[in-house]
Amino acid sequence: MLTIHPPKRFLFGPGPTQVEPRVYEAMSQPVVGYLDPYFFEVADQVKKGLQECFGTTNEMTLAISGTGSSGMETAVSNFVPEGSKFAVIVGGFFAERLCEMGRRHGANIVRLEKAWGETAGDDEVREFILRERPATVAYVHAETSTGALQSGNAICEAAHEVGALVIADCVTSLGGVKIGVDDTGIDIAYSCTQKGLSCPPGLSPFTASALAVERLKTRARPNTVWYLDLVLLNDYYSAAHKYHHTAPISNFYALREGLALIAEEGVEARWARHLENHERLVARMESLGLSMHVAQGYRIPHLNTVRVPEGVDDLAVRKRLLADEGIEIAGGFGPLAGKIFRIGLMGPLATADNTRFFLDAFAKAVR
Ligand SMILES: *Cc1c(COP(=O)(O)O)cnc(C)c1O
Repeated sequence: MLTIHPPKRFLFGPGPTQVEPRVYEAMSQPVVGYLDPYFFEVADQVKKGLQECFGTTNEMTLAISGTGSSGMETAVSNFVPEGSKFAVIVGGFFAERLCEMGRRHGANIVRLEKAWGETAGDDEVREFILRERPATVAYVHAETSTGALQSGNAICEAAHEVGALVIADCVTSLGGVKIGVDDTGIDIAYSCTQKGLSCPPGLSPFTASALAVERLKTRARPNTVWYLDLVLLNDYYSAAHKYHHTAPISNFYALREGLALIAEEGVEARWARHLENHERLVARMESLGLSMHVAQGYRIPHLNTVRVPEGVDDLAVRKRLLADEGIEIAGGFGPLAGKIFRIGLMGPLATADNTRFFLDAFAKAVR
């Protein structure tokens, strides 16, 4: 008999998001050894599924052990050498975290600042990168703290003109909206399992281009973070299968099944479903007299930020939703504390029925 009984929740927040029963079932299957051929079969299926969602043919595509932040630190520790210039487009909490990691790894940080909820335009991005001539540029594709979706095309184009590599934080975007790693020209991208992919937290999908892998080989010194050294991780996951650390086997099962669900639906159909329900939400919010925080055309479709109306206490609304309906959503933080609701309509919850269920409960709680 199980002795643990977590409450039933509807995870309409930014993450972790709702997990499909099939993914839980996969997770409860017997653990095999970290060098078992079956594990590498699963890891290979994970790689293929991730390539599809990222939109890449990158050979170096894998899942890092740890949550999204481990992918961020894998990117920074491997591709931002000490003393190098690291340019970051900053318009929210997670871009700040990228700067903080860069600082800790001894990089010289230069920032292009935007207000929280705005994105950087093509001309200003170009001017910034050509002026600073950094070794590495980073941006957050879907800034979960604000709801803004930053386009990467101009960033990648300008960065490549000055010989810089581009890191894209795709923690919230993967599985939720198109990224197009290869088409955009992104060199390094990382994500997580518990947001757009609808799996439990624990792994960080990661991809690096052939150019980035070349850069890895020319590092003067090896990565100081042994655990996230891509050279060592590659020796484990690629043909040599040389022991590095014990992969979290059950999390791989979960991700493998989650990616199978996405493949069955078709990743483009999944993106379209997120967009459809985003539009439903926007229409209903506007009919309630509420407004979206991010300008139309720059919104993350599956992570909606709605302004808290005058005279409404956002914490009281969130508490009521959780107590009455078991619904979790999030508030804002930093400069947006108390000013926005952050509402995820992702994966199994992004259906017409579930969106209506949420919006009815939300309308009642706000009233
Ligand atoms: C959630 C998030 C992270 C951090 O991921 P964790 O899984 O919490 O470690 C980084 N960047 C963005 C954009 C995120 O939304």
